[in-house]
Amino acid sequence: MLPVVALVGRPNVGKSTLFNRLLGQRKAIVEDFPGVTRDRHYAEVTRYGSPFLLIDTGGFEPASEDRLLTQMREQSQLALEEADIIFFLMDVRDGLTASDEEVAKMLRKIDKPVFFIVNKVDGDKQEMGASEFYALGIEKIYSVSAEHGRGVSELIEDLSELL
Ligand code: GDP
Ligand code: MG
Repeated sequence: MLPVVALVGRPNVGKSTLFNRLLGQRKAIVEDFPGVTRDRHYAEVTRYGSPFLLIDTGGFEPASEDRLLTQMREQSQLALEEADIIFFLMDVRDGLTASDEEVAKMLRKIDKPVFFIVNKVDGDKQEMGASEFYALGIEKIYSVSAEHGRGVSELIEDLSELL
């Protein structure tokens, strides 16, 4: 059985973009609308030495803040049940949101490694914004750009140590 890494986070934070980047090809559909990934995408990632199974989660665009939280709970549940390692993505452009805080709280209770990742840090300018996420009380925040690849090798290095 391959170790399973699950991508979780609000719609539009860039889960599918990171999925594609880690895969090295475009597989998951990336759209400019939240919640385009209708179901889970699974892919075996073999290009970094130790292979792992990557899960991209999605779901429909939540109709409301309530629905968003329900979806996030479902994702966290999925991660709890199926994943060995969790990549929790947030978006530097939105800053730290209430639902990020709520999900972070849920994920901290899970007895599995969780990587807290701030995405869309495309350049030095966004690096400052990423430091705001340390308010979550997490020791290590990964700032990455799924789109351009910035910070992704550090993420992979640390992941590889767990595989
Ligand atoms: P998902 O809903 O979490 O799967 O998010 P997607 O991967 O579909 O991405 C949502 C939007 O954010 C798309 O327009 C992406 O092109 C954009 N996006 C994703 N990653 C980055 C990034 O690192 N930088 C920037 N600037 N945009 C990104
Ligand atoms: Mg998606």
